[in-house]
Amino acid sequence: MLSRNVSQGNAQVTILLAADHRHVLVQGETASIPIGTEHRQDNLHVGDLIRNSPRFRSGGRLSARKAERLSPLRRSFDKFTVFYRTGQPVSAATAGAGCCTPAQTFAGCGRLRSTPTRPGPTYDWLPVFTTGSLPILQLETPAATTATPLLNPRALPQAQTVGLYVHVPFCSHKCHYCDFYSITRQGVERMRRFVDRVLVEAQIWSDNPGPICQPRTIFFGGGTPTLLPADVMLRLIEGLRRRFDFSQLHEFTVEANPASVSLEYCQMLRSVGVNRISFGAQSFDPRELARLERHHHPDDVPRSIKMARQAGFDRINIDLIYAIPGQSLDSWASSLDRAIALGLRHYSCYGLTYEPNTPLAVKKRLGQIQAVPEELELSMLHLARRRLTEVGCPPYEISNYAAAGQHCQHNLVYWTGQNYIGLGPAAASHIQGYRFRNRPHLGEWEQAIDAGILPAGELEVLSPLRRAGELVMLQLRLTRGVEFADFAGRSGYDARQLYADQLDRLGRAGLLQIDESGFRLTEAGLNVADAIAAEFLTPQDR
Ligand code: SF4
Repeated sequence: MLSRNVSQGNAQVTILLAADHRHVLVQGETASIPIGTEHRQDNLHVGDLIRNSPRFRSGGRLSARKAERLSPLRRSFDKFTVFYRTGQPVSAATAGAGCCTPAQTFAGCGRLRSTPTRPGPTYDWLPVFTTGSLPILQLETPAATTATPLLNPRALPQAQTVGLYVHVPFCSHKCHYCDFYSITRQGVERMRRFVDRVLVEAQIWSDNPGPICQPRTIFFGGGTPTLLPADVMLRLIEGLRRRFDFSQLHEFTVEANPASVSLEYCQMLRSVGVNRISFGAQSFDPRELARLERHHHPDDVPRSIKMARQAGFDRINIDLIYAIPGQSLDSWASSLDRAIALGLRHYSCYGLTYEPNTPLAVKKRLGQIQAVPEELELSMLHLARRRLTEVGCPPYEISNYAAAGQHCQHNLVYWTGQNYIGLGPAAASHIQGYRFRNRPHLGEWEQAIDAGILPAGELEVLSPLRRAGELVMLQLRLTRGVEFADFAGRSGYDARQLYADQLDRLGRAGLLQIDESGFRLTEAGLNVADAIAAEFLTPQDR
């Protein structure tokens, strides 16, 4: 049953479904809702909406690209974002619990995507849901608006959050493989305004008696955090220190650009408590850097590391990418050797992924570049594991290598399912199974902050079983794998019982090594890690 309440005026409401938050895949019925009445429509399910949609029925006339996007919907009607398009200004939208059947409940909330006071069509959104039914929508006119945030920390479980992430969305140039949210060509004033608002966002969290932010780890990522001028970065760090309790902080990482960082900047970071720095090196072959559209020279990396050391950093990481188009095993070995010669104690090595809609993915689709063969990519992975282990930095996670005691504690917060808060556009937060991501758009994020609300763009409330499945998925990335006692403490389940079937099958296939303490990927399992991880998620969560 779909139910809509409108407190004043008429509202034309159209239901839109999207799988990726941008492209409307299915447009459902439009209804005019009279003033002060409640509109109900029985037995309206997402599946019905899709099946009844003219666009769905006209599948044969869709372009190949649209058909490609629709095809997953035909197979499964269980995961969408629902948009309500309204024909009048709307101040707020909320979704309450209650769907077609008592068994299908929905919990979540939504906010406007556009300026609340602007007249004309307005898109409201509701988070991804998986029940197959439409959530309740309540619309209010601007006169009925209250300043009450629809998602505020008070509505979230009271819990300690141990990780703090700040997404700085500025880059001097967009690399062609990158799908992180960032914008280019921004002036200092825009960056100052950004920092003002990050501090307001931090204040929203600290003013509320919901999750308690006492970070043990902080990570500034992006984007390129070191594009912030030194005085702006200082104000950001000092402002966060005034709003959150830093007494337990023991790891503070900032990502830095090897092309532009200076000794003075490194010294400033060190002086305000930053104790770990991470440089995006990616490759030591200038042709490979050019293919990725990276705008630094390989020699910038040792120069930056020298400055970081001079400034007092002893925890330094570099990111490397393998499986770059045209890269051979020899050229990857050469990049690894140059990296090892730097004598670091932490390295991150990522296989290149072709994220949808990045220039690199488009070039691949057009046949202008070719992905390296899968076997070669696996050889590169195993070469990195062998070479870095030989120099005392064995893998502790699929993509991360470190000497003893040098593991990135912030990433371990993610991989062990702990609580963290993200500030800035596109930053993700997780608190006890409540997971959401800030709006991945600087302007929309700013508007939400200026309205005094958390700029959440999606909220997922994970069931205990799904949390358990995701925990396995994350921990299988770790070399130590899933430890039964730790897993039981975090999830409340005995993994031996809950996953008896998977452990039996995957163990017998030689993909998992299982002993009395836990289970982990074997070398053979490493080659199909994603497929193994999916085995632990329920079908609707995959
Ligand atoms: S510098 Fe980093 S965040 Fe910015 S575009 Fe390149 S890869 Fe993406």
